[in-house]
Amino acid sequence: MAYAALDYYALDELFTNEERMVRDTVRELVSSKVMPTIGKHFSAGTFPHELVPVFGEMGLLGPSLTGYGCAGISPTAYGLICQELERGDSGIRSFCSVQGSLVMYPIWAHGSEAQKQQWLPELASGRMIGCFGLTEPDFGSNPSGMLTTAKRSGGGYVLNGTKRWITNGSVAHVAIVWAKLDGVVRGFIVPTKTKGFTARDIHGKWSLRASVTSELILEDVEVGEDALLPNVTGLKGPLSCLSQARFGICYGAVGAAMACYDEALSYAKDRVQFSRPIAGYQLVQRKLVDMVQEITKAQLMCWRLGRLKESGKLTPSQISLAKRNCVAMARDCARDARDILGANGVTDEYQCGRHMLNLESVFTYEGTHDIHTLVVGQDVTGLAAFDG
Ligand SMILES: Cc1cc2nc3c(=O)[nH]c(=O)nc-3n(C[C@H](O)[C@H](O)[C@H](O)COP(=O)(O)OP(=O)(O)OC[C@H]3O[C@@H](n4cnc5c(N)ncnc54)[C@H](O)[C@@H]3O)c2cc1C
Repeated sequence: MAYAALDYYALDELFTNEERMVRDTVRELVSSKVMPTIGKHFSAGTFPHELVPVFGEMGLLGPSLTGYGCAGISPTAYGLICQELERGDSGIRSFCSVQGSLVMYPIWAHGSEAQKQQWLPELASGRMIGCFGLTEPDFGSNPSGMLTTAKRSGGGYVLNGTKRWITNGSVAHVAIVWAKLDGVVRGFIVPTKTKGFTARDIHGKWSLRASVTSELILEDVEVGEDALLPNVTGLKGPLSCLSQARFGICYGAVGAAMACYDEALSYAKDRVQFSRPIAGYQLVQRKLVDMVQEITKAQLMCWRLGRLKESGKLTPSQISLAKRNCVAMARDCARDARDILGANGVTDEYQCGRHMLNLESVFTYEGTHDIHTLVVGQDVTGLAAFDG
């Protein structure tokens, strides 16, 4: 069945020609290259590596960055790319988010000219893969407590520590590692083949199964002076990257919700129980209309987020509100879609169950739902409900 993207309020009119073109190109890519195999990858717990060069060729890696082989499209177009990729699978969108927003962005925004020239064209083309190591086994929501350290040694640095839940960890050629140097958080560009660097995959995930998630162990990893990101100090370094990634996640979650709605609607029109298709029953219509309503609100929110970003006015707490809203909305849509599909909804013949499971990770990573509540709570009250 062809995918029919929900656009109840004709938002299409609000996007530029370029934004529509980018979106439609990625939509087609997802239909032709992601949908036919993603269910198998999810079941097998494998990432579709064959897509990486395709993403590179299409300019989907770091697409809103400028120069160094990046496409330089608008933030809204970047968001729409995320929307379409996550219509396929959150793991696919996660790959591109990590590569573009968490690996390329810090080099682009905080790196030296030599670092940009060395790494960005390779990462933009997909010839190299990157990962972002912030979270540690005992420090998730509170990264400021991180134990990973960097010590000066000769002309460079020695890194020690453990990072956990790192997307792309074991397939990455390069890791952005956040570590404390003299007690201050700093970013380091670490080639993963450096002696003392090990990545071990985390198995047994219920969620994001088509995405690689790893633990990174750094034991006396020696890097040169040129590994340090020179232009940012403190937690604002990693947080600036997370703001970029979360912006895309808001759109991505809407894409997952749109996929679930589309599947639920067509199933409900076909599935006959008692005297008619279940779409003709009031209770089913209520669920479908709730989805239309919430997706439409989230689409409008994302559109506004994009325009605020383009005008340089977007604040981190505005992104937090959208991440909180859009992901929770998508999680609810996935569950309602699964319900509408009845027993069929618990099988891998349909996609809503996969989205439902994926969205559990999306709800937790890049700042949990609750942490974003506290960020917005602090913004509106002026009172921090958490330490730090
Ligand atoms: C599939 C996957 C991929 C990931 N990829 C990456 C990656 O590439 N790089 C990376 O660095 N990290 C990554 N993460 C880690 C992710 O960012 C963390 O899981 C997240 O920050 C939450 O940390 P935690 O899991 O330690 O939970 P915790 O911080 O232990 O939180 C557990 C619960 O306590 C709540 N809580 C915590 N503090 C408070 C508080 N002050 N008030 C109220 N409630 C609170 C949380 O909201 C949550 O419900 C990934 C995670 C997953 C699942």
